[in-house]
Amino acid sequence: MKEIKHFINGEFVGSSNGKTFENINPINGKQIATVHEGGMDEVNQAVSSARAALQSEWGSMDVNERVNLLYKVADGINARFDEFLEAECADTGKPYSLARHIDIPRGAANFKVFADTIKNEGTELFTMPTPDGTGAINYALRAPKGVIAVISPWNLPLLLMTWKVGPALACGNTVIVKPSEETPTTTALLGEVMNDAGIPKGVFNVVHGFGPDSAGAYLTQHADVDAITFTGETLTGTAIMQAAAVGVRDISLELGGKNPAVVFADCDMDKAIEGTTRSVFANCGQVCLGTERVFVERSIFDEFVERLKQSAEGLKVGVPEDKDSNMGPLVSKTHQEKVLSYYKNAAEEGATVVTGGGVPDMPEDLKGGAWVEPTIWTGLADDATVIREEIFGPCCHIRPFDTEEEAIQLANDTEYGLASSVWTENISRAHRVAAQIDSGIVWVNSWFLRDLRTPFGGMKGSGIGREGGVHSLEFYTELKNVCIKL
Ligand code: NAD
Repeated sequence: MKEIKHFINGEFVGSSNGKTFENINPINGKQIATVHEGGMDEVNQAVSSARAALQSEWGSMDVNERVNLLYKVADGINARFDEFLEAECADTGKPYSLARHIDIPRGAANFKVFADTIKNEGTELFTMPTPDGTGAINYALRAPKGVIAVISPWNLPLLLMTWKVGPALACGNTVIVKPSEETPTTTALLGEVMNDAGIPKGVFNVVHGFGPDSAGAYLTQHADVDAITFTGETLTGTAIMQAAAVGVRDISLELGGKNPAVVFADCDMDKAIEGTTRSVFANCGQVCLGTERVFVERSIFDEFVERLKQSAEGLKVGVPEDKDSNMGPLVSKTHQEKVLSYYKNAAEEGATVVTGGGVPDMPEDLKGGAWVEPTIWTGLADDATVIREEIFGPCCHIRPFDTEEEAIQLANDTEYGLASSVWTENISRAHRVAAQIDSGIVWVNSWFLRDLRTPFGGMKGSGIGREGGVHSLEFYTELKNVCIKL
Protein backbone atom coordinates (compact mmCIF):
# COMPACT_ATOMS: atom_id res chain seq x y z
CA MET A 1 0.00 0.00 0.00
CA LYS A 2 1.29 3.46 -0.93
CA GLU A 3 2.34 5.56 2.08
CA ILE A 4 1.97 9.34 2.25
CA LYS A 5 4.26 11.08 4.72
CA HIS A 6 4.70 14.62 6.00
CA PHE A 7 7.21 16.87 4.24
CA ILE A 8 9.22 18.75 6.83
CA ASN A 9 12.48 20.62 6.29
CA GLY A 10 12.88 19.11 2.83
CA GLU A 11 12.37 15.50 3.92
CA PHE A 12 9.52 13.02 3.97
CA VAL A 13 8.93 11.83 7.53
CA GLY A 14 6.40 9.60 9.27
CA SER A 15 4.41 10.50 12.37
CA SER A 16 6.27 10.10 15.66
CA ASN A 17 3.10 8.70 17.28
CA GLY A 18 2.70 6.12 14.48
CA LYS A 19 -0.86 7.27 13.75
CA THR A 20 -2.16 6.86 10.20
CA PHE A 21 -5.46 7.05 8.32
CA GLU A 22 -6.80 5.65 5.06
CA ASN A 23 -6.98 7.56 1.80
CA ILE A 24 -10.05 6.25 -0.05
CA ASN A 25 -10.85 6.36 -3.76
CA PRO A 26 -14.41 7.74 -4.00
CA ILE A 27 -15.24 5.87 -7.21
CA ASN A 28 -15.31 2.48 -5.45
CA GLY A 29 -14.60 3.05 -1.76
CA LYS A 30 -11.28 1.21 -1.93
CA GLN A 31 -8.19 2.33 -0.05
CA ILE A 32 -5.46 3.85 -2.24
CA ALA A 33 -2.92 4.93 0.35
CA THR A 34 -2.08 5.07 4.02
CA VAL A 35 -1.53 8.63 5.24
CA HIS A 36 0.49 9.66 8.31
CA GLU A 37 -1.54 11.73 10.73
CA GLY A 38 0.41 14.64 12.14
CA GLY A 39 0.32 15.47 15.82
CA MET A 40 1.77 18.29 17.88
CA ASP A 41 5.33 16.98 17.27
CA GLU A 42 5.10 17.25 13.49
CA VAL A 43 3.43 20.66 13.66
CA ASN A 44 6.14 21.94 16.03
CA GLN A 45 8.89 20.61 13.75
CA ALA A 46 7.30 22.07 10.63
CA VAL A 47 6.80 25.48 12.23
CA SER A 48 10.37 25.64 13.54
CA SER A 49 11.73 24.56 10.14
CA ALA A 50 9.66 27.29 8.49
CA ARG A 51 10.89 29.86 11.02
CA ALA A 52 14.52 28.83 10.57
CA ALA A 53 14.21 28.97 6.78
CA LEU A 54 13.27 32.66 7.01
CA GLN A 55 16.76 33.28 8.42
CA SER A 56 18.49 31.10 5.80
CA GLU A 57 19.42 31.81 2.17
CA TRP A 58 15.67 32.12 1.42
CA GLY A 59 15.39 35.18 3.67
CA SER A 60 18.25 37.00 1.93
CA MET A 61 17.46 35.85 -1.61
CA ASP A 62 16.75 38.66 -4.06
CA VAL A 63 13.41 38.73 -5.82
CA ASN A 64 14.81 37.62 -9.19
CA GLU A 65 16.29 34.45 -7.73
CA ARG A 66 13.04 33.70 -5.94
CA VAL A 67 11.05 34.26 -9.11
CA ASN A 68 13.37 31.92 -11.05
CA LEU A 69 12.88 29.20 -8.44
CA LEU A 70 9.09 29.56 -8.61
CA TYR A 71 9.22 29.26 -12.39
CA LYS A 72 11.12 26.00 -11.86
CA VAL A 73 8.39 24.78 -9.50
CA ALA A 74 5.73 25.49 -12.15
CA ASP A 75 7.86 23.72 -14.78
CA GLY A 76 8.38 20.82 -12.37
CA ILE A 77 4.61 20.34 -11.98
CA ASN A 78 4.15 20.46 -15.74
CA ALA A 79 7.01 17.99 -16.27
CA ARG A 80 5.15 15.51 -14.02
CA PHE A 81 1.72 16.51 -15.32
CA ASP A 82 0.37 12.97 -15.72
CA GLU A 83 1.46 11.94 -12.23
CA PHE A 84 -0.31 14.95 -10.71
CA LEU A 85 -3.34 14.27 -12.88
CA GLU A 86 -3.64 10.63 -11.84
CA ALA A 87 -3.12 11.47 -8.17
CA GLU A 88 -5.73 14.24 -8.19
CA CYS A 89 -8.30 12.10 -9.99
CA ALA A 90 -7.70 9.11 -7.70
CA ASP A 91 -8.18 11.26 -4.59
CA THR A 92 -11.28 13.09 -5.87
CA GLY A 93 -12.80 10.83 -8.54
CA LYS A 94 -13.17 13.82 -10.89
CA PRO A 95 -12.94 13.32 -14.67
CA TYR A 96 -9.47 13.49 -16.22
CA SER A 97 -10.95 15.85 -18.81
CA LEU A 98 -11.72 18.37 -16.05
CA ALA A 99 -8.49 18.07 -14.06
CA ARG A 100 -6.42 18.16 -17.26
CA HIS A 101 -7.82 21.57 -18.16
CA ILE A 102 -8.31 23.14 -14.75
CA ASP A 103 -6.74 21.59 -11.66
CA ILE A 104 -3.23 20.75 -12.85
CA PRO A 105 -2.45 23.58 -15.32
CA ARG A 106 -3.88 26.17 -12.91
CA GLY A 107 -1.92 24.57 -10.07
CA ALA A 108 1.29 25.15 -12.03
CA ALA A 109 0.24 28.60 -13.29
CA ASN A 110 -0.29 29.87 -9.74
CA PHE A 111 3.49 29.88 -9.24
CA LYS A 112 4.22 31.81 -12.44
CA VAL A 113 1.41 34.34 -12.06
CA PHE A 114 2.45 35.42 -8.57
CA ALA A 115 6.16 35.34 -9.42
CA ASP A 116 5.37 37.83 -12.20
CA THR A 117 3.21 39.93 -9.88
CA ILE A 118 5.88 40.35 -7.22
CA LYS A 119 8.53 41.07 -9.82
CA ASN A 120 6.58 43.88 -11.41
CA GLU A 121 4.87 45.52 -8.46
CA GLY A 122 6.42 48.66 -6.94
CA THR A 123 5.43 50.47 -3.78
CA GLU A 124 4.10 53.97 -3.17
CA LEU A 125 5.96 57.23 -2.56
CA PHE A 126 4.60 60.54 -1.28
CA THR A 127 6.43 63.82 -0.86
CA MET A 128 5.05 66.24 1.73
CA PRO A 129 5.68 69.80 2.80
CA THR A 130 6.91 70.53 6.37
CA PRO A 131 6.55 73.78 8.39
CA ASP A 132 10.30 74.50 8.11
CA GLY A 133 10.08 74.30 4.35
CA THR A 134 12.50 71.39 3.84
CA GLY A 135 9.82 68.74 3.25
CA ALA A 136 9.76 65.01 3.75
CA ILE A 137 9.51 61.86 1.68
CA ASN A 138 7.41 58.81 2.55
CA TYR A 139 7.97 55.50 0.86
CA ALA A 140 6.72 52.00 1.54
CA LEU A 141 8.81 48.89 2.03
CA ARG A 142 7.29 45.48 1.51
CA ALA A 143 8.46 42.59 3.72
CA PRO A 144 7.24 39.01 3.97
CA LYS A 145 4.78 38.35 6.75
CA GLY A 146 6.75 35.36 8.03
CA VAL A 147 5.51 31.83 8.70
CA ILE A 148 2.16 31.21 7.00
CA ALA A 149 -0.22 28.34 7.74
CA VAL A 150 -2.14 27.19 4.65
CA ILE A 151 -5.27 25.13 5.32
CA SER A 152 -6.87 23.84 2.14
CA PRO A 153 -10.01 21.92 1.09
CA TRP A 154 -10.59 18.86 -1.08
CA ASN A 155 -12.64 20.12 -4.01
CA LEU A 156 -9.77 21.53 -6.11
CA PRO A 157 -6.85 20.32 -3.98
CA LEU A 158 -3.76 21.35 -5.97
CA LEU A 159 -5.30 24.47 -7.48
CA LEU A 160 -6.59 25.98 -4.24
CA MET A 161 -3.49 25.06 -2.24
CA THR A 162 -1.07 26.59 -4.78
CA TRP A 163 -3.35 29.65 -5.06
CA LYS A 164 -2.02 30.38 -1.55
CA VAL A 165 1.45 28.80 -1.60
CA GLY A 166 2.34 30.57 -4.89
CA PRO A 167 1.88 34.14 -3.63
CA ALA A 168 3.13 33.28 -0.12
CA LEU A 169 6.48 32.07 -1.49
CA ALA A 170 6.65 34.80 -4.16
CA CYS A 171 6.49 37.31 -1.31
CA GLY A 172 9.33 35.55 0.54
CA ASN A 173 7.33 33.82 3.28
CA THR A 174 7.67 30.21 4.38
CA VAL A 175 4.65 27.90 4.62
CA ILE A 176 3.22 24.88 6.37
CA VAL A 177 0.37 23.32 4.40
CA LYS A 178 -2.32 21.16 5.97
CA PRO A 179 -4.11 19.69 2.96
CA SER A 180 -7.55 18.16 3.30
CA GLU A 181 -7.51 14.68 4.80
CA GLU A 182 -9.56 13.57 1.77
CA THR A 183 -6.96 14.65 -0.79
CA PRO A 184 -3.38 14.53 0.51
CA THR A 185 -1.55 13.18 -2.54
CA THR A 186 -0.80 16.14 -4.83
CA THR A 187 0.37 18.29 -1.91
CA ALA A 188 2.80 15.52 -0.98
CA LEU A 189 3.99 15.28 -4.59
CA LEU A 190 4.62 19.01 -4.59
CA GLY A 191 7.25 18.43 -1.89
CA GLU A 192 9.28 16.38 -4.40
CA VAL A 193 8.91 19.13 -6.99
CA MET A 194 10.08 21.75 -4.47
CA ASN A 195 13.24 19.76 -3.74
CA ASP A 196 13.94 19.19 -7.43
CA ALA A 197 13.49 22.90 -8.14
CA GLY A 198 16.01 23.80 -5.43
CA ILE A 199 13.63 25.51 -3.01
CA PRO A 200 15.65 25.68 0.25
CA LYS A 201 14.76 23.29 3.04
CA GLY A 202 12.02 24.43 5.39
CA VAL A 203 10.45 26.91 2.98
CA PHE A 204 7.61 24.54 2.02
CA ASN A 205 6.36 22.06 4.62
CA VAL A 206 3.37 19.72 4.68
CA VAL A 207 1.69 18.12 7.68
CA HIS A 208 -1.20 15.75 7.03
CA GLY A 209 -4.14 15.16 9.32
CA PHE A 210 -7.60 16.33 10.28
CA GLY A 211 -9.02 19.59 11.64
CA PRO A 212 -10.20 19.61 15.28
CA ASP A 213 -7.80 17.95 17.77
CA SER A 214 -5.45 17.20 14.91
CA ALA A 215 -2.88 18.86 12.65
CA GLY A 216 -5.25 21.60 11.39
CA ALA A 217 -6.15 22.90 14.84
CA TYR A 218 -2.59 22.49 16.21
CA LEU A 219 -1.22 24.47 13.30
CA THR A 220 -3.72 27.33 13.43
CA GLN A 221 -3.29 27.58 17.23
CA HIS A 222 0.50 27.56 17.04
CA ALA A 223 1.88 30.78 18.54
CA ASP A 224 4.80 30.95 16.09
CA VAL A 225 2.56 31.04 13.00
CA ASP A 226 2.32 34.66 11.83
CA ALA A 227 -0.74 34.40 9.57
CA ILE A 228 -3.31 31.84 8.44
CA THR A 229 -4.85 31.50 5.02
CA PHE A 230 -7.83 29.18 4.81
CA THR A 231 -10.25 27.90 2.19
CA GLY A 232 -13.15 25.77 3.34
CA GLU A 233 -16.47 25.86 5.12
CA THR A 234 -17.75 28.96 6.85
CA LEU A 235 -18.08 27.13 10.19
CA THR A 236 -14.45 26.00 10.03
CA GLY A 237 -13.48 29.56 9.10
CA THR A 238 -15.17 30.76 12.26
CA ALA A 239 -13.13 28.32 14.38
CA ILE A 240 -9.92 29.40 12.63
CA MET A 241 -10.73 33.07 13.12
CA GLN A 242 -11.11 32.40 16.84
CA ALA A 243 -7.74 30.62 16.91
CA ALA A 244 -6.14 33.52 15.03
CA ALA A 245 -7.47 36.03 17.57
CA VAL A 246 -4.92 34.69 20.08
CA GLY A 247 -1.79 36.64 19.24
CA VAL A 248 -3.76 38.92 16.86
CA ARG A 249 -2.62 37.01 13.78
CA ASP A 250 -3.78 37.92 10.30
CA ILE A 251 -6.26 35.74 8.43
CA SER A 252 -7.51 35.32 4.90
CA LEU A 253 -10.75 33.34 4.68
CA GLU A 254 -12.24 31.96 1.46
CA LEU A 255 -15.43 30.28 2.63
CA GLY A 256 -18.69 28.76 1.47
CA GLY A 257 -21.31 30.08 -0.91
CA LYS A 258 -24.96 29.71 -1.88
CA ASN A 259 -24.53 31.26 -5.24
CA PRO A 260 -27.39 32.58 -7.40
CA ALA A 261 -27.84 32.60 -11.15
CA VAL A 262 -30.32 35.18 -12.45
CA VAL A 263 -31.72 34.41 -15.88
CA PHE A 264 -33.63 37.21 -17.63
CA ALA A 265 -36.10 36.65 -20.46
CA ASP A 266 -33.77 38.61 -22.76
CA CYS A 267 -30.93 36.10 -22.30
CA ASP A 268 -29.45 33.95 -25.02
CA MET A 269 -31.14 30.73 -23.88
CA ASP A 270 -28.50 28.39 -25.36
CA LYS A 271 -25.71 30.20 -23.54
CA ALA A 272 -27.70 30.34 -20.29
CA ILE A 273 -28.42 26.60 -20.38
CA GLU A 274 -24.83 25.67 -21.22
CA GLY A 275 -23.42 27.98 -18.54
CA THR A 276 -25.90 26.96 -15.85
CA THR A 277 -25.32 23.27 -16.59
CA ARG A 278 -21.63 23.84 -15.90
CA SER A 279 -22.15 26.06 -12.87
CA VAL A 280 -24.51 23.58 -11.19
CA PHE A 281 -22.96 20.23 -12.12
CA ALA A 282 -19.23 20.74 -12.83
CA ASN A 283 -16.97 18.81 -10.45
CA CYS A 284 -20.14 17.08 -9.24
CA GLY A 285 -21.33 20.40 -7.83
CA GLN A 286 -18.32 20.67 -5.55
CA VAL A 287 -17.16 24.13 -6.60
CA CYS A 288 -17.37 26.98 -4.12
CA LEU A 289 -18.45 29.25 -7.00
CA GLY A 290 -21.11 26.80 -8.20
CA THR A 291 -24.77 27.74 -8.56
CA GLU A 292 -27.34 26.24 -6.16
CA ARG A 293 -30.13 28.85 -6.55
CA VAL A 294 -31.44 29.68 -10.02
CA PHE A 295 -33.94 32.54 -10.56
CA VAL A 296 -35.62 32.66 -13.96
CA GLU A 297 -37.95 35.36 -15.35
CA ARG A 298 -41.46 33.93 -15.36
CA SER A 299 -42.10 34.20 -19.13
CA ILE A 300 -39.25 31.73 -19.87
CA PHE A 301 -39.47 29.71 -16.65
CA ASP A 302 -41.11 26.55 -18.05
CA GLU A 303 -38.86 26.44 -21.09
CA PHE A 304 -35.72 26.98 -18.98
CA VAL A 305 -36.67 24.25 -16.48
CA GLU A 306 -37.38 21.78 -19.29
CA ARG A 307 -34.13 22.55 -21.08
CA LEU A 308 -31.96 22.40 -17.94
CA LYS A 309 -33.64 19.07 -17.13
CA GLN A 310 -32.71 17.70 -20.56
CA SER A 311 -29.18 19.03 -20.19
CA ALA A 312 -28.78 17.43 -16.72
CA GLU A 313 -30.16 14.13 -17.97
CA GLY A 314 -27.65 14.25 -20.82
CA LEU A 315 -24.71 14.30 -18.41
CA LYS A 316 -22.77 11.10 -18.10
CA VAL A 317 -21.74 10.04 -14.62
CA GLY A 318 -18.60 7.92 -14.80
CA VAL A 319 -15.04 7.08 -13.78
CA PRO A 320 -12.21 9.61 -14.32
CA GLU A 321 -10.67 7.89 -17.36
CA ASP A 322 -14.00 7.66 -19.23
CA LYS A 323 -13.60 10.29 -21.96
CA ASP A 324 -17.36 10.79 -22.22
CA SER A 325 -17.93 11.24 -18.50
CA ASN A 326 -18.97 14.73 -17.37
CA MET A 327 -19.32 13.99 -13.68
CA GLY A 328 -17.51 11.80 -11.17
CA PRO A 329 -18.66 10.82 -7.68
CA LEU A 330 -18.71 13.09 -4.64
CA VAL A 331 -15.44 13.17 -2.71
CA SER A 332 -16.41 10.68 0.01
CA LYS A 333 -19.15 8.47 1.42
CA THR A 334 -19.53 10.97 4.27
CA HIS A 335 -20.18 13.77 1.81
CA GLN A 336 -22.54 11.52 -0.17
CA GLU A 337 -24.57 10.96 3.01
CA LYS A 338 -24.72 14.73 3.58
CA VAL A 339 -25.86 15.49 0.02
CA LEU A 340 -28.43 12.66 0.06
CA SER A 341 -29.80 13.96 3.34
CA TYR A 342 -30.47 17.28 1.56
CA TYR A 343 -32.12 15.39 -1.32
CA LYS A 344 -34.41 13.73 1.21
CA ASN A 345 -35.06 16.98 3.00
CA ALA A 346 -36.04 18.76 -0.26
CA ALA A 347 -38.65 16.08 -0.97
CA GLU A 348 -39.94 16.27 2.62
CA GLU A 349 -40.27 20.05 2.42
CA GLY A 350 -42.43 19.68 -0.70
CA ALA A 351 -40.09 20.13 -3.65
CA THR A 352 -41.07 19.03 -7.13
CA VAL A 353 -38.18 16.82 -8.18
CA VAL A 354 -37.63 17.77 -11.83
CA THR A 355 -34.85 15.23 -12.23
CA GLY A 356 -32.56 13.07 -10.07
CA GLY A 357 -32.90 12.98 -6.31
CA GLY A 358 -31.09 9.72 -5.64
CA VAL A 359 -28.13 7.49 -6.40
CA PRO A 360 -27.46 6.44 -10.01
CA ASP A 361 -27.37 2.76 -10.84
CA MET A 362 -23.65 2.06 -11.23
CA PRO A 363 -21.91 -1.17 -12.31
CA GLU A 364 -21.13 -3.71 -9.58
CA ASP A 365 -17.45 -2.71 -9.12
CA LEU A 366 -18.42 0.95 -8.55
CA LYS A 367 -21.33 0.41 -6.17
CA GLY A 368 -19.13 1.26 -3.16
CA GLY A 369 -18.47 4.73 -4.60
CA ALA A 370 -19.92 8.07 -3.52
CA TRP A 371 -22.22 8.58 -6.52
CA VAL A 372 -25.25 10.86 -6.63
CA GLU A 373 -27.60 11.90 -9.40
CA PRO A 374 -27.63 15.41 -10.85
CA THR A 375 -30.74 16.91 -9.28
CA ILE A 376 -33.10 19.82 -9.98
CA TRP A 377 -35.98 21.01 -7.80
CA THR A 378 -38.73 23.58 -8.20
CA GLY A 379 -41.63 24.68 -6.03
CA LEU A 380 -39.96 25.24 -2.67
CA ALA A 381 -40.63 28.16 -0.31
CA ASP A 382 -37.83 30.73 0.00
CA ASP A 383 -37.01 29.55 3.51
CA ALA A 384 -36.64 25.86 2.59
CA THR A 385 -33.49 24.21 3.94
CA VAL A 386 -31.96 23.43 0.53
CA ILE A 387 -32.40 27.07 -0.46
CA ARG A 388 -30.71 28.43 2.68
CA GLU A 389 -27.83 25.99 3.30
CA GLU A 390 -24.79 25.23 1.17
CA ILE A 391 -25.11 21.64 -0.09
CA PHE A 392 -21.95 21.37 -2.22
CA GLY A 393 -23.47 18.77 -4.51
CA PRO A 394 -24.77 18.58 -8.12
CA CYS A 395 -28.15 20.20 -7.48
CA CYS A 396 -30.12 23.41 -7.72
CA HIS A 397 -33.56 24.86 -7.06
CA ILE A 398 -35.19 26.94 -9.81
CA ARG A 399 -37.66 29.67 -8.90
CA PRO A 400 -39.53 32.17 -11.11
CA PHE A 401 -39.39 35.98 -10.66
CA ASP A 402 -41.32 38.85 -12.22
CA THR A 403 -39.19 42.01 -11.96
CA GLU A 404 -35.53 43.00 -11.94
CA GLU A 405 -35.88 44.36 -8.38
CA GLU A 406 -37.34 41.07 -7.18
CA ALA A 407 -34.52 39.11 -8.84
CA ILE A 408 -31.87 41.23 -7.10
CA GLN A 409 -33.64 40.91 -3.77
CA LEU A 410 -33.86 37.11 -4.13
CA ALA A 411 -30.22 36.81 -5.22
CA ASN A 412 -29.11 38.77 -2.14
CA ASP A 413 -31.38 36.90 0.26
CA THR A 414 -28.61 34.71 1.68
CA GLU A 415 -25.97 34.77 4.40
CA TYR A 416 -23.34 34.20 1.73
CA GLY A 417 -21.83 36.42 -0.96
CA LEU A 418 -19.23 34.60 -3.01
CA ALA A 419 -20.27 34.46 -6.68
CA SER A 420 -23.22 35.02 -8.99
CA SER A 421 -24.13 34.77 -12.67
CA VAL A 422 -26.44 37.06 -14.62
CA TRP A 423 -27.79 36.02 -17.99
CA THR A 424 -29.06 38.88 -20.18
CA GLU A 425 -28.31 40.36 -23.60
CA ASN A 426 -29.26 43.85 -22.35
CA ILE A 427 -25.97 45.59 -21.55
CA SER A 428 -27.49 48.30 -19.35
CA ARG A 429 -29.33 45.73 -17.30
CA ALA A 430 -26.13 43.66 -16.97
CA HIS A 431 -24.22 46.60 -15.46
CA ARG A 432 -27.17 47.68 -13.30
CA VAL A 433 -27.79 44.25 -11.82
CA ALA A 434 -24.09 43.36 -11.40
CA ALA A 435 -23.56 46.48 -9.31
CA GLN A 436 -26.42 45.54 -6.96
CA ILE A 437 -25.66 41.88 -6.28
CA ASP A 438 -23.68 41.38 -3.07
CA SER A 439 -21.03 38.90 -4.14
CA GLY A 440 -17.26 38.97 -4.60
CA ILE A 441 -17.60 38.15 -8.27
CA VAL A 442 -20.51 38.65 -10.69
CA TRP A 443 -20.31 36.89 -14.03
CA VAL A 444 -22.37 38.21 -16.91
CA ASN A 445 -23.14 35.58 -19.55
CA SER A 446 -20.42 33.28 -18.26
CA TRP A 447 -19.24 31.30 -15.27
CA PHE A 448 -15.78 30.33 -13.91
CA LEU A 449 -13.98 32.69 -16.27
CA ARG A 450 -11.03 33.85 -14.17
CA ASP A 451 -8.30 36.37 -14.82
CA LEU A 452 -5.86 35.64 -12.00
CA ARG A 453 -4.90 39.32 -11.69
CA THR A 454 -8.40 40.26 -10.50
CA PRO A 455 -9.61 40.37 -6.86
CA PHE A 456 -11.13 37.12 -5.62
CA GLY A 457 -12.97 36.60 -2.37
CA GLY A 458 -16.31 36.64 -0.66
CA MET A 459 -18.66 39.09 1.01
CA LYS A 460 -20.77 38.36 4.11
CA GLY A 461 -20.36 34.73 5.32
CA SER A 462 -18.24 33.86 2.28
CA GLY A 463 -15.01 35.22 3.62
CA ILE A 464 -12.62 37.96 4.57
CA GLY A 465 -10.02 39.52 2.29
CA ARG A 466 -9.26 39.39 -1.40
CA GLU A 467 -6.61 37.30 -3.13
CA GLY A 468 -5.43 37.40 -6.75
CA GLY A 469 -2.90 39.67 -8.49
CA VAL A 470 -1.69 42.55 -6.33
CA HIS A 471 -4.48 41.84 -3.84
CA SER A 472 -2.61 38.76 -2.66
CA LEU A 473 0.34 40.99 -1.76
CA GLU A 474 -1.84 42.76 0.80
CA PHE A 475 -2.14 39.58 2.79
CA TYR A 476 1.26 37.97 2.21
CA THR A 477 3.37 41.04 2.99
CA GLU A 478 3.69 43.69 5.65
CA LEU A 479 3.94 47.22 4.31
CA LYS A 480 6.13 49.57 6.29
CA ASN A 481 6.12 53.33 5.72
CA VAL A 482 9.49 55.06 5.98
CA CYS A 483 9.18 58.84 6.53
CA ILE A 484 12.37 60.82 5.85
CA LYS A 485 12.57 64.42 6.93
CA LEU A 486 14.78 66.25 4.48
P1 NAD B 1 -13.67 22.11 5.58
O1 NAD B 1 -13.86 23.43 6.23
O2 NAD B 1 -14.36 20.94 6.15
O3 NAD B 1 -12.13 21.71 5.58
C1 NAD B 1 -11.14 22.53 4.98
C2 NAD B 1 -9.82 22.28 5.66
O4 NAD B 1 -9.88 22.73 7.00
C3 NAD B 1 -9.41 20.81 5.71
O5 NAD B 1 -8.02 20.74 5.47
C4 NAD B 1 -9.74 20.43 7.15
O6 NAD B 1 -8.98 19.37 7.64
C5 NAD B 1 -9.40 21.72 7.87
N1 NAD B 1 -10.07 21.91 9.16
C6 NAD B 1 -11.31 21.48 9.54
N2 NAD B 1 -11.57 21.90 10.81
C7 NAD B 1 -10.49 22.62 11.22
C8 NAD B 1 -10.17 23.32 12.42
N3 NAD B 1 -11.01 23.38 13.45
N4 NAD B 1 -8.98 23.94 12.49
C9 NAD B 1 -8.12 23.91 11.46
N5 NAD B 1 -8.36 23.26 10.31
C10 NAD B 1 -9.54 22.63 10.18
O7 NAD B 1 -14.02 22.33 4.04
P2 NAD B 1 -14.07 21.21 2.90
O8 NAD B 1 -15.25 20.35 3.18
O9 NAD B 1 -12.73 20.62 2.74
O10 NAD B 1 -14.34 22.10 1.60
C11 NAD B 1 -15.61 22.46 1.16
C12 NAD B 1 -15.94 23.88 1.62
O11 NAD B 1 -14.96 24.78 1.14
C13 NAD B 1 -17.26 24.39 1.07
O12 NAD B 1 -17.93 25.11 2.07
C14 NAD B 1 -16.82 25.35 -0.04
O13 NAD B 1 -17.75 26.34 -0.38
C15 NAD B 1 -15.57 25.91 0.54
N6 NAD B 1 -14.71 26.44 -0.51
C16 NAD B 1 -14.55 27.79 -0.62
C17 NAD B 1 -13.76 28.33 -1.63
C18 NAD B 1 -13.57 29.81 -1.80
O14 NAD B 1 -12.69 30.19 -2.56
N7 NAD B 1 -14.33 30.66 -1.14
C19 NAD B 1 -13.12 27.46 -2.52
C20 NAD B 1 -13.31 26.08 -2.38
C21 NAD B 1 -14.09 25.59 -1.35
